[in-house]
Amino acid sequence: MFTGRCRIPLSQVGEGVSTFTLSVGFTDLVGETDSRFPDNMVVEVEITPVDDDFLSRLRVSTKIRLICDRCGETFSRELEGRVDTVYTQDPVRSGNEDADMRWLPPEQNFIDVADDIRDALILAVPDKCLCREDCKGLCVRCGANLNKTTCVCPKNKEDSRWDALKNIKFD
Ligand SMILES: [Zn+2]
Ligand SMILES: [Zn+2]
Repeated sequence: MFTGRCRIPLSQVGEGVSTFTLSVGFTDLVGETDSRFPDNMVVEVEITPVDDDFLSRLRVSTKIRLICDRCGETFSRELEGRVDTVYTQDPVRSGNEDADMRWLPPEQNFIDVADDIRDALILAVPDKCLCREDCKGLCVRCGANLNKTTCVCPKNKEDSRWDALKNIKFD
């Protein structure tokens, strides 16, 4: 699904650095929603023309909804991603497999930064996440969320399954 929201018209790109601010929803990128990205994202793009190329510096910031690895709670945090790309109208240079070089057909009068936004998000989304640095997690015995409550389970750190082993006498 294409919405045109990620397009930067080249007619608005002047000499030097031109700055654009876009408001883009996740559906504008892939045509479907993603519960991790409930809000529109703010995308700032700096375009600098150099010969047959346009240098693009893109920054995306948005709120991301994550699930804590330790306690399983859903929480939100600010996410910021950046990606630099060269859009080139030179077919030879666009042919080399350089990941940060994209082909810009000379007859096309806009740059579509949807792929750059996607790349910036992919790079920025954390693999592991905690709702807070000192998340206490869940009680291994009763499952209580120890950030919210204290349970009555014994607080020794050792797993009770090892208790039986400790009582074995080797002699
Ligand atoms: Zn947590
Ligand atoms: Zn407990």
